[in-house]
Amino acid sequence: MDQTQIDALRAEPVRAFGHLIDGQHLGASDGGTMDVISPIDGTVLTTVAAGTQSDMEAAISSARTAFEDGRWSGQPPAARKKVLLKWADLIEAHALELAVLGVRDNGTEIAMALKAEPGSAAGTIRYYAEALDKVYGEIAPTADDVLGLIHKEPVGVVGAIIPWNFPLMIGAWKLGPALAMGNSVVVKPSETASLSLMRMCELALEAGLPPGVLNAVTGEGAVVGQAMGLSMDVDVLVFTGSGATGRRLMEYAARSNMKRVYLELGGKSPNIIFADAPNLDEAAKVAAAGIFRNAGQVCVAGSRLLVERSIHDEFVSAVAKATDAMRVGDPLRVDTQIGAVNSQTQLDANLGFVETATNEGGQIITGGNRILQETGGYYMAPTIVTGVRPDATLAQKEVFGPILGVTPFNSEEEAITLANSTVYGLAGAAWTSNLSRAHRMVRGVRTGVMHINTYGGADGTVPLGGVGQSGNGSDKSLHALEKYINLKTAWIKL
Ligand code: NDP
Repeated sequence: MDQTQIDALRAEPVRAFGHLIDGQHLGASDGGTMDVISPIDGTVLTTVAAGTQSDMEAAISSARTAFEDGRWSGQPPAARKKVLLKWADLIEAHALELAVLGVRDNGTEIAMALKAEPGSAAGTIRYYAEALDKVYGEIAPTADDVLGLIHKEPVGVVGAIIPWNFPLMIGAWKLGPALAMGNSVVVKPSETASLSLMRMCELALEAGLPPGVLNAVTGEGAVVGQAMGLSMDVDVLVFTGSGATGRRLMEYAARSNMKRVYLELGGKSPNIIFADAPNLDEAAKVAAAGIFRNAGQVCVAGSRLLVERSIHDEFVSAVAKATDAMRVGDPLRVDTQIGAVNSQTQLDANLGFVETATNEGGQIITGGNRILQETGGYYMAPTIVTGVRPDATLAQKEVFGPILGVTPFNSEEEAITLANSTVYGLAGAAWTSNLSRAHRMVRGVRTGVMHINTYGGADGTVPLGGVGQSGNGSDKSLHALEKYINLKTAWIKL
């Protein structure tokens, strides 16, 4: 990563982005435009089109037409594969441009953004491109006088609603398998991080994806997102974001065509440290990175640190030391480890959580405040709060910011009980040298992902999905393909 190249890219003005509908770049319609504020310094970076219900309907109609006429859904798998592989290559070729554009929009530190955004997105698109011609139908074990065939068909029009924390990575988790299976897609980026995803969609057209197969509409969730959710012509809705919006999407589906809805909703993931962890220094550094990278704005962030009481004080000091050593600031510097919080709204919410935590008896060990205010950007010191009661707000509610709550435990049983004491179940970790205990933790803690002696980093070969109010259905791995196909039985009398 070259700082000079990054600085040159950040000096360039950012053009206004409109919608991408039916292969056309469209400017703002009656809805006008919305300012895009950069969290780096609070200035207006550019504008995006403020989409309307009719913009969304036009995009859905274009996707439907493309699906029905078979320009993509009817292509041989090898042809679809070729286009998707080209798209992955183009994403890689434009990696720095995409990463810098994304960071200017959402504030993630560039070192992480480059890897987790274009790098991961290209890998995901390539993975599903390679997978698509290995998806076979089935022959059922029937009596001799019939033949039962199970076909795997694309579902039709997929609506994808993407959050602001990792627009390319999460976008690719939805677009990759949806397009690979022959569906048409309409995507709605978050209004606080649209730019890089819009650019990545443009590259899909450049790669040869036929017009109308992938449409993208910018604008407010409550307007264009709602129009997508209530559409009678979207067959599957896939989403990552908050539980509140997830609930609305299920309601929209019930009120319209009962479309399938798959939700990935974040969590309150426990990182559990036993006194017999193989390397407590390493565990402390990973615990700090596991919550604070991307300013804590990671769905699987290890936001609850559960520490065996006998090592509590020593371990918390080690995590605080590792935290204080992390460089917070300008996300476009290659050595920054914690960038900006995505928006003023998120920053205010984070500071509110700190206040509530202290009102509820927590003690701030480090951080707790806004920093670098003179830049105009939204920066917060990484914050550790100890003495967090299991029923405290900080132990129960997703913050989605750089705040770690610490709670001690006395036994393995208590650790499992605490770990399972929220409505969420996305990710977690246990650190121990005891192999049997490690397996008991994997079985006992109710999450979609359990790490042992590490935190994060699971690649595209394994599923990511939650239980409880962390959502349903999985992104990543071959299992994700199931969301984007219908099973169809052919029952043939011989
Ligand atoms: P939202 O759930 O509101 O946003 C996620 C996406 O949903 C965005 O594209 C948003 O659009 C869209 N959206 C919002 N309202 C509607 C609606 N009525 N119908 C359809 N789509 C809608 O999350 P926020 O951005 O408000 O963040 C709030 C909290 O959500 C965070 O603090 C965090 O706790 C959680 N979150 C979790 C994420 C995860 O990775 N699991 C990611 C992001 C947030 P728009 O941006 O235009 O409003």
